[in-house]
Amino acid sequence: MLPTLRETVNFYGLMANKALGQNFLLDSNITDKIIRQSLSRQNIHDFKNFNIIEIGPGPGGLTRSILGAEPQSLTVVEMDPRCIKIMEDLRAETDTPMSIINGDAMLFNPTENIASPRQIISNLPYNVSVPLLLKWLTQIKDLSALTLMFQKEVAERITAPTHSKDYGRVSIIAQLTCSIQKLFDLNPECFTPAPKIWSSVLLFQPLENAISAENIAKIEKITALAFGQRRKMLRQSLKSINNISDKLEQIGIAPTARAEEVSPQKFLELSKLV
Ligand code: SAM
Repeated sequence: MLPTLRETVNFYGLMANKALGQNFLLDSNITDKIIRQSLSRQNIHDFKNFNIIEIGPGPGGLTRSILGAEPQSLTVVEMDPRCIKIMEDLRAETDTPMSIINGDAMLFNPTENIASPRQIISNLPYNVSVPLLLKWLTQIKDLSALTLMFQKEVAERITAPTHSKDYGRVSIIAQLTCSIQKLFDLNPECFTPAPKIWSSVLLFQPLENAISAENIAKIEKITALAFGQRRKMLRQSLKSINNISDKLEQIGIAPTARAEEVSPQKFLELSKLV
């Protein structure tokens, strides 16, 4: 029988390491809710048909809830060697085939190592949440869904509409690759230790016409210029692109417009002209 999560944390003396973005979820009501809502928004009852990848399992609260949804297999990728023994204890208790990788998720390629269909689930380490998301979005056609927890302000940037102050590079790339639903917000007291900020769980499902990694790379460059000077007119912030005013007019954007007035679709059209 598995000990409770708190007994596990105490037994291994697992003090949270700030440098690894560790804020643990030790309440199974919350981790179960993440999985329940993710399943329900995907119109499925369990993960029996999916190979699940969990990034940063830590002491394993969310991992236990994932295993409860009976995935075909579970692969966990955790940087902190202290958590590996905890994962081995979990593996000894489950019938689900489980692979444990002690390493950096930034260096791990989910599509190379895990059979399809695959989903990624994570209470993400906040310090690398955006780089990890952007990396997965470049291979989104090979992923069935992503259920991810972010700092609330990062989630707001990801889902931000055109014309809003949070709208930018991440919103554009995420919205050109996925349909994104917010599952719910979590207050700081849900975590041990409690961070200063709220968090939000988002579900990403790939769009049928999700843009390619090549498109993403182009849009990254254009949006870096456009939002690097977001108060400037596009003809100014994008002046390093040949005939930028003509190109903007060709897609129906005034050269005097500012970056936050341009929809993701128009950024895509522009990227195809440069
Ligand atoms: N899933 C656990 C939970 O919900 O309680 C822990 C979440 S904690 C916010 C983030 C976890 O990611 C930590 O366990 C941390 O050690 C791990 N981590 C941090 N950076 C990582 C990286 N680059 N690759 C893999 N794991 C990482």
